[in-house]
Amino acid sequence: MEALTSAAARSYGRIVRLFKKLKNLGFKTYETLYQTYVIPVLNYAAEVWGYPDYNSPQVLQNRVSRFFLGVHKFTPVPATQIEMDWLDVRYLRWIDMVRYRNKLVKMSEDRLPAIINRWDKSLNTQAWHSQVSQVLAYADVLPENENDYVDIDALSSHLKVLNRNKWFVNAQTKSKLEVFLEVVDRDNQQVVVRSNLSRRRRSLVTKIKCGVLPLIVETGRFKNTPRELRLCQICEENQIETEYHFLFDCPRLEGVGEDMKNDFTDIEGYSDLTHAEKMKNLLQSNRVIRFSKHLDIMFETRRKFMYTVEEENRNVAHVSQVPQVSQLS
Ligand SMILES: [Zn+2]
Repeated sequence: MEALTSAAARSYGRIVRLFKKLKNLGFKTYETLYQTYVIPVLNYAAEVWGYPDYNSPQVLQNRVSRFFLGVHKFTPVPATQIEMDWLDVRYLRWIDMVRYRNKLVKMSEDRLPAIINRWDKSLNTQAWHSQVSQVLAYADVLPENENDYVDIDALSSHLKVLNRNKWFVNAQTKSKLEVFLEVVDRDNQQVVVRSNLSRRRRSLVTKIKCGVLPLIVETGRFKNTPRELRLCQICEENQIETEYHFLFDCPRLEGVGEDMKNDFTDIEGYSDLTHAEKMKNLLQSNRVIRFSKHLDIMFETRRKFMYTVEEENRNVAHVSQVPQVSQLS
């Protein structure tokens, strides 16, 4: 298992190098490269061993997802899974198992795999045959007769539904994902990845959506600052610098915020919408490219203000040291 995962990690490494060289490769290409070069190594012979829940292949897939999204490893996993909308590796292996089962039921009885299969079935234990039955029952695609084909498309789409539900249930346990759960479009999960954004802007949009853009609400976590003290540093409002404060409420960013607002006159009653509704609208497929441009400008403007704040803090620290120096002389 570990050997397969590290072999797959090497294939993935080659793709990353290619991806870095070619710069802005689209989602479709990335997905195809992953499915063609990494998954077959990762799931080699998975029709035989694929049932249990191994951790390392999924960890690799999560890494592959984070690289495309442009987010760091502290990004909550369920959010990256929802954004990519790729089936978990375990479910991909289950599909391989059922595909192989389809082959076995039509195989002539004197062939070795068929003989082994009958023997395995006769064991009545938690062996391969019973694992396949569990998969079929779980995905609700048990055939009427034991020797019927199982429709692989139906299996895949049922697993997809179950998988998505699992991601959303997991997302609800992550405090960072409060905004994410308010703004994510459950019916169009791949909007950001499919939007042909530049790497930089895809990363910015994904970060603000997944609660990991380095605003004070997020950076304060790493410094153990209580949430109510993670205040915006660039204005005097004493507000927590949340994603919503940054995007819609910070008076220091009013100018660039106004530009953004003027660019979205197509959103009806924009000013009256709640923060979450506004952001949800901005993240729709017909607007996300425009939104990413404004987000880029806003974050850059914030960065400049933050730099000034930090400079001032440094100067204050410097001044307070002066008396100590004079005491020495
Ligand atoms: Zn502010």
